[in-house]
Amino acid sequence: MKSRKSNTQQKNFLLLNYFKPSIYLRSFKKVNLASLKNSGIKVILCDLDNTLIGWNQRVPNADIMNFIKSVKDNGFEFVLFSNNVRSRVQNFAKKAGIENYFWDCKKPLLGKMKVLKKILPFENNEMILIGDQLVTDILVANRAHIKSILVSPISKINDDSKLVRFFEKFLYKRLSQKNILQEGFYTEGELGGNYDIL
Ligand SMILES: [Mg+2]
Repeated sequence: MKSRKSNTQQKNFLLLNYFKPSIYLRSFKKVNLASLKNSGIKVILCDLDNTLIGWNQRVPNADIMNFIKSVKDNGFEFVLFSNNVRSRVQNFAKKAGIENYFWDCKKPLLGKMKVLKKILPFENNEMILIGDQLVTDILVANRAHIKSILVSPISKINDDSKLVRFFEKFLYKRLSQKNILQEGFYTEGELGGNYDIL
């Protein structure tokens, strides 16, 4: 009886690892591109809402434009990978000069990720996904066996269902209890995170 209980605990602990990001940063502005490059990353997938812009914003600001420019200047492929509808994702992509974008990705499901991997035939260890949500972005990255960067959401306001918000909150609590992730304790320094260990 005792060992059965500890087996269940072990299993729950392993499941929690599916929500563990490779890197945790305050914002996309803290991403250290040189370091990612050193780690062999060639493709950067990025969530849209509350990762690059607030849920109620539409236009990319100077920070986003600078980020996308330096991503390209550093030779990365940049892919917008959003759960939102086509019109919003396409409109943003065009304004920001992003050629590769996927809408209606249904993260954490793997369907669009498989399509993307066919179009951009890179190895899993050459891809990383940036996003603000554990239940969608980090889970889909781990399920697809690619690295991930968790960022804090730009705005607390979003259109998530109550259930998603509840689950997200629950996960932060459990991850903190297991010392896997502490909300607000970022893995970054003055120049952004150093990810050579990726
Ligand atoms: Mg998001």
